[in-house]
Amino acid sequence: MTEKQATPRIVAAASALEDRLPLADTGDMEDAERGFVGALRPGQVRAADGRVVWDADAWATVLQAERPDTVNPSLWRQARLVALHGLYEVTDGIYQVRGMDLSNMTLVEGDKGVIVIDPLISTETAAAALGLYRGHRGDRPVTAVIYTHSHVDHFGGVRGVVTGDDVASGRVPVLAPEGFVEHAVAENVYAGAAMARRSAYMYGAALPVGPAGQLGAGLGMSVSTGTITLIPPTLEVTRTGQEEVLDGVRILFQVTPGTEAPSEMNFLFPDHGALCMAENATHTLHNLLTLRGALVRDPHAWARYLTEAIDLFADATSVEFASHHWPTWGRERVVALLSEQRDLYAYLHDQTLRLLNKGYVGVEIAELLELPPGLENAWHTRGYYGSVSHNVKAVYQRYLGWFDGNPARLWAYPPEQAGRRYVEAIGGPEAVLDVARRAFDDGDYRWVGELAGHLVYADPGNTAARELQAAAFEQLGFGAENGTWRNFYLVGAAELRGATVGTPTVTASPDILAQLTLSQLFDSVAIRVDGPRASDLRVGIDWSVTGPDGEEHRYWSRMSNGVLTHGDGVLREKPDAVVRTSRGALLALVTGQTRPDELQESGSLSIEGATDVLARILEVLDTLDPGFAIVTPRPPHPS
Ligand SMILES: [Zn+2]
Repeated sequence: MTEKQATPRIVAAASALEDRLPLADTGDMEDAERGFVGALRPGQVRAADGRVVWDADAWATVLQAERPDTVNPSLWRQARLVALHGLYEVTDGIYQVRGMDLSNMTLVEGDKGVIVIDPLISTETAAAALGLYRGHRGDRPVTAVIYTHSHVDHFGGVRGVVTGDDVASGRVPVLAPEGFVEHAVAENVYAGAAMARRSAYMYGAALPVGPAGQLGAGLGMSVSTGTITLIPPTLEVTRTGQEEVLDGVRILFQVTPGTEAPSEMNFLFPDHGALCMAENATHTLHNLLTLRGALVRDPHAWARYLTEAIDLFADATSVEFASHHWPTWGRERVVALLSEQRDLYAYLHDQTLRLLNKGYVGVEIAELLELPPGLENAWHTRGYYGSVSHNVKAVYQRYLGWFDGNPARLWAYPPEQAGRRYVEAIGGPEAVLDVARRAFDDGDYRWVGELAGHLVYADPGNTAARELQAAAFEQLGFGAENGTWRNFYLVGAAELRGATVGTPTVTASPDILAQLTLSQLFDSVAIRVDGPRASDLRVGIDWSVTGPDGEEHRYWSRMSNGVLTHGDGVLREKPDAVVRTSRGALLALVTGQTRPDELQESGSLSIEGATDVLARILEVLDTLDPGFAIVTPRPPHPS
């Protein structure tokens, strides 16, 4: 067992896979290179302080070589396509900057300037992408921005292409599907810290790029690590059939809520014959439940909206492009792409339901279900980002939840307690290691991962167990066709080997927090209340909060039984205090940037009644751990 080398088992599996892959079909390689105009040289994007937030050259260098044994051949092929970077012409007047962030920026030339679709994740990469475009197409002003959906890789860089003034003055309209802001921020409020942590594993942003390291996420290479911003839309797209004209360019919209994102839309440029499919049809099987964690998506609705898109737009389309990957040219090829993507999500949905209605549980269906040959042999339906395995479990979860019906798993022991018992039952640590080592030699890495994991949880100090589990994770990563599986395995191995695995991207930026509603702001406090510590605390407050518009909002909050409840208006009972403040000051207070006494001194907060009410609430708020352990035990919980 040698660190960073693939075992003969993984090498053999890779060559068996190569025999099954449709390698003769090179259409997407031609598409990915078609229309190349020019690239950023060198391929690094830096923040104002000089820090590199994106390095397109790092991947390009690795991917120039022959495929190493440590990368799955199908993922290697996908990485080579995804890592291509530069400005590309899609059709007359429509360009894309690809490979400069996880997502694409699309530029549509209008009468006076250029419309930007999806300004990437960071202001730095967005500005660099726009600069690259302008370098080749002239210094056109941005005349409109469109966000295709509510995920951060489609809006975070907006202040890199327009200013708040451009938008506030009405010079630059910003379009988004209905519900955009609510969903864009909601995701960061409730489980945001855990999602950010798990994203670090999913995108492997803390892993070194290389043959035994990070080689993309299948959807894009990785996430940029610059400044995340948000300018709220000025015009919402609320219905299918809505038509808008931006900078002289006609656009026809289809709203697709509850597909890849809760708020998303496709749209046609009828005068260009160009169709934007947002993230609803990409060159991978997408996620029904992303591994970073989220609410389960609806494959049934997703498939239905893809049918609707074909019906609405296919006849008028000669090229299709999306917010990730490369375009598809030719009406027939576009229809084939959209139909196969539709069949893919419908197949996973329907077949999982068929099998769960026969009593099979998620982990069983995940092993049973294979795609039919027509889908298996199309590159764009392969599991580079989503996978059949984890999507099937997601469908099960959506309909039936975590419990598989077997009471043996109704009240199972948590990992540390289970680990101790398994280790004892097998005959102690050495016996576990013996079995696990033999399984490793047999190439049964899934079993090694599980078995050695019991020993790691029973005794996190057992370095042999940690190394064995890390070695198994590493082989599973080397063998994975899915980019996010590879990243999870390799970052897990790094954690076991004691590396500091950081959390490079935290999406709760000041711009995003500024869009929180009062109710979301109080929710974000409520979920940090340490219940046991707060169980005796009873505090009622009537709030008067002045918004940025100068308008006064009356709001109440009440702490009792370890719960902070809140709502519009005033308390039913007499409050302990009345607090007057501004939204901005309240945000600074709950994000820990300031203290109540500082705000009182500066005159931005006043308390009438019991003056210690805020201090008493702040005292029972828990501090989150942005870098929590995932494959090793968390520290014992104090309460
Ligand atoms: Zn995206």
